[in-house]
Amino acid sequence: MAHNRYEIAILGTGLGGLICGYILSRKGYKVVILEKNHQIGGCLQTFKRFGVKFDTGMHYIGSLQEGQILHKLFDFINVLDDVKVHSLDTDGYDVISLAGQKYRYASGYEAFINTLSESFPENHKDIEEYIRRVRQIAASSPLYNMRKINTHTFIDADYIKTSVDEFIASVTSNPILQNILAGNLPLYAGVKGKTPTYIHALINNFYIQSAYRIVGGSDAIAQSLAKSIRSFGGEIYTDCEITNIICDDNKAVAVQLANGERIEADSFVSNIHPQKMLTMLDTRLIRKAYRDRINALENTISNFTVYIKFKENTTPYLNYNYYFYEDGNVWNVNNYDVNKYPQSYLYMHQCHKENPQYAQSAELIGYMKFDEVRQWVNTKVERRGEDYKTFKEMKAQQLLAKLEESFPGINSAIEGYETSSPLTYRDYTGTHEGSMYGIIRDKNFPTQTLVSQRTKIPNLFMTGQNINSHGILGVTIGAAITCAEFLGLNEIINEIDNE
Ligand SMILES: Cc1cc2nc3c(=O)[nH]c(=O)nc-3n(C[C@H](O)[C@H](O)[C@H](O)COP(=O)(O)OP(=O)(O)OC[C@H]3O[C@@H](n4cnc5c(N)ncnc54)[C@H](O)[C@@H]3O)c2cc1C
Repeated sequence: MAHNRYEIAILGTGLGGLICGYILSRKGYKVVILEKNHQIGGCLQTFKRFGVKFDTGMHYIGSLQEGQILHKLFDFINVLDDVKVHSLDTDGYDVISLAGQKYRYASGYEAFINTLSESFPENHKDIEEYIRRVRQIAASSPLYNMRKINTHTFIDADYIKTSVDEFIASVTSNPILQNILAGNLPLYAGVKGKTPTYIHALINNFYIQSAYRIVGGSDAIAQSLAKSIRSFGGEIYTDCEITNIICDDNKAVAVQLANGERIEADSFVSNIHPQKMLTMLDTRLIRKAYRDRINALENTISNFTVYIKFKENTTPYLNYNYYFYEDGNVWNVNNYDVNKYPQSYLYMHQCHKENPQYAQSAELIGYMKFDEVRQWVNTKVERRGEDYKTFKEMKAQQLLAKLEESFPGINSAIEGYETSSPLTYRDYTGTHEGSMYGIIRDKNFPTQTLVSQRTKIPNLFMTGQNINSHGILGVTIGAAITCAEFLGLNEIINEIDNE
């Protein structure tokens, strides 16, 4: 590795790290990005089994029509040409299966209202009101509309201090409709009484506008960003695990790598989970109170995934996402009964080319608490032992048996499958206990559960899903917030607007 001194060292190549790398190197900063894994991308990583590529943490994205927010942002980070997408069914991009009944989310505000009203004719006005308020919340956020602002406030306090379930209950008293409106909560690992309304509203508004699968794998986003970063003179190194962030009396001066190398820089941007980052900092600049506050924050739940390869031309391609709930309560997913596993899952076909007739592969995702795999906490990838393999096989069989109930015959179409557990996510992305979306935002402790991009060290900043929010949109906007520390937020918004 080159041993030049860098202006900015970015720690981790997740979406947040790469977008910061893009914005800062494009502005002329001398940037280096260091990644512990062999593959860049964090949750954008893919892997190949049975000759098929599988996504690991980016399955569908929204608001990509011209003029919509992700289109604007993708244009700014110059990935539109490299990332091919396929529109999900506009008359039902998400299907929610609740206690044996199916309900569809359609694309576009009017279509969403009309389609759900077919299932809930008496609640047409409630659904209209739901959409009106979701739109109002999204419109009230300057950052989610890339409007210039004077502060970093990004959403009205009322929507931070009410929970999703309270918000939904305020628009309809129909308990089934309440559950259906929260039906895609695995997208944000919603927790009843905790998850703030704005998270639900911004995500649903994002997907209702338009919803797409990425054709051929989410690693295309990481590859495209890396190509641009290098073209701006930025450097990216993989297989570089950072073990320490070294500080003098006033600031961070270097990072220490597991291989013994030391990389110096003027400033640092960490894309590593904040709780893990703190374990790398042994300095008086980080006071105990800050460390204790960050370490006390709870993380969202993890998942167990079955990656399925189908026999050729056996399984018609489903152009929607299927959210399954055994009983009538979508909020049980965080507190599932281990003995009744799985009571819910998310099932998605992958899109390997435009307009496929048959599916080559699918992913079947169930929530999983880390406690279920805690006995293997000290093991490493591929070396966790036979009992772990048995455990994974049992969970896969349980999920596949439940899938068969909704899609009779599906198991006989499977050529092979692979699985991942919370340990896999912990080891491939470095998140705490394999948490899907990082730290839980809690409406009861709104300021305490918001993590700032600033740390107690003046030249060390954070980015990624724990800053601002998770997902393609949350992390991209979070990266702009982080880069604003170097460039000014309105300057970045200006550039995005003028792209
Ligand atoms: C199962 C799953 C499904 C998802 N589906 C979707 C979806 O459909 N749509 C959507 O918008 N979002 C989805 N998300 C969320 C989205 O993928 C994440 O919010 C986002 O990609 C996280 O980006 P990040 O910048 O926080 O980095 P991360 O992806 O967390 O990456 C962090 C990077 O830091 C590296 N790192 C950690 N420690 C070190 C170290 N010591 N030294 C060097 N490098 C280190 C890691 O290896 C990793 O590359 C999903 C997430 C999961 C888990």
